[in-house]
Amino acid sequence: MIEIVSPERCTGCNICVSACPTQVFEAVPDGIPRIARQSDCQTCFMCELYCPADALYVAPVADHAVTVAEEAGEVRQWIGSYRRAVGWGKDRQPTAALDASFELLRRAH
Ligand code: SF4
Ligand code: SF4
Repeated sequence: MIEIVSPERCTGCNICVSACPTQVFEAVPDGIPRIARQSDCQTCFMCELYCPADALYVAPVADHAVTVAEEAGEVRQWIGSYRRAVGWGKDRQPTAALDASFELLRRAH
């Protein structure tokens, strides 16, 4: 479930507002988006994936919110970690490039 919009990292681009399929975020004029409907979060990670500033943290717990403080050292490492893990972002290697399943298709023909 979405837990953190980092005020330190967020640029207010509102991409997450558009990316969320269940309208969890609310845009704030001249500010950073607000998590307005947390209980509607589907834990799909799309917002974290599309955030160009690595400013979001979606906890991998889907059925209830967890209390996390951005200031906690461990949590700071988790913010944007899904996006990093799949290799999206500048100077990262997308994991899709490592997918060798095309070999199966090639050998089947
Ligand atoms: S994890 Fe998915 S449903 Fe939850 S806030 Fe992000 S985009 Fe919306
Ligand atoms: S996508 Fe990221 S940087 Fe843009 S508004 Fe959302 S949290 Fe902030």
